[in-house]
Amino acid sequence: MNKPGADAPLIDPFGRHVSYLRVSVTDRCDFRCVYCMSEDMTFLPKRDLLSLEELDRMCSAFVARGVDRLRLTGGEPLVRRDILWLFRRLSRHLDSGALQELTLTSNGTQMPKYARELYACGVRRVNISLDSLDADKFQKITRWGKLDQVLRGIDAAQEAGLQVKINMVALKDLNGDEIPDMIRWAHGRGMGLTLIETMPLGDIDGDRTDQYLPLSQVRTELATHFTLEPLAHRTGGPARYMRVAETGGRLGMITPLTHNFCESCNRVRLTCTGTLYMCLGQDDAADLRTPLRRDAQEGAGDAHLMAALDEAIGRKPKGHDFIIDRRGQKPAVARHMSVTGG
Ligand code: SAM
Ligand code: SF4
Repeated sequence: MNKPGADAPLIDPFGRHVSYLRVSVTDRCDFRCVYCMSEDMTFLPKRDLLSLEELDRMCSAFVARGVDRLRLTGGEPLVRRDILWLFRRLSRHLDSGALQELTLTSNGTQMPKYARELYACGVRRVNISLDSLDADKFQKITRWGKLDQVLRGIDAAQEAGLQVKINMVALKDLNGDEIPDMIRWAHGRGMGLTLIETMPLGDIDGDRTDQYLPLSQVRTELATHFTLEPLAHRTGGPARYMRVAETGGRLGMITPLTHNFCESCNRVRLTCTGTLYMCLGQDDAADLRTPLRRDAQEGAGDAHLMAALDEAIGRKPKGHDFIIDRRGQKPAVARHMSVTGG
């Protein structure tokens, strides 16, 4: 257990140091990806959201407790109004050296507008999601997305000096056959590619077992096209990395349904309403908005927030419980990825 304190590191009951925070700054998005959302999503009322000032205070409390990597995500983080204000505020922690990295995961649509300013805020790397290079398939997967717009976003990010990594969710019938081409394309442009197995998060319109494509199978098939050399590089998350000898690029595989990364898990996730999930695959969560607002009302520092944070990290579970229920088709975890952030 932690010794509570304003600057004590966040160590969970299994001795893991929590140093990485993902923050979903909005549950809204300009796409409706089939594995992520239903087409007629009901979004949270605006009043339930943390304000940008509150998000800054919340993130800064984590930084004070030793979190040194911060990733903003969503929903689509760049559709939140004035989101650049938050990046600008948070960049002070990069300047002070408390934060090693400030980054984001984005669908790329707003990159032409924001890439330069993100770079100016100290952002150096971005993950951009792209599941297909075929315009029709891309639209089928994202429902509302246009491939051209995302490709322009990727150009803009690279032109601004941001290092881009592409995230691709592997979907059996939709893009499984495109993976070798996607590897050549991404690596040819100096971008890493990470494949993600679909995760059973939130109700969507459709059957997840239809879309599930195990990455173990993808890896076996890729080995007939490429020489895959395992890399030691680890992030504390569920990704495994390899080098593709033919392209010289890096390929990641995120297999969240396996348990083999939990022992090194260094991360927690905060939603846009201030709920902290200590594990992506479990429902247990802690409300940090109430103590944050109480501290603000009482004007006495972050005492309630810090106590709530200690209590929450003290409950971080050893591992997760993902399963795709093949009979009921119910998601193992009821919330959507757009709530917790990817
Ligand atoms: N809108 C941004 C984007 O698409 O990059 C950020 C949020 S999105 C929820 C983050 C990542 O989660 C994306 O790469 C997306 O493909 C992935 N994702 C969403 N739902 C998923 C699911 N059910 N299983 C696996 N990955 C999922
Ligand atoms: Fe939006 Fe990202 Fe979810 Fe697609 S995966 S609907 S882009 S939040």
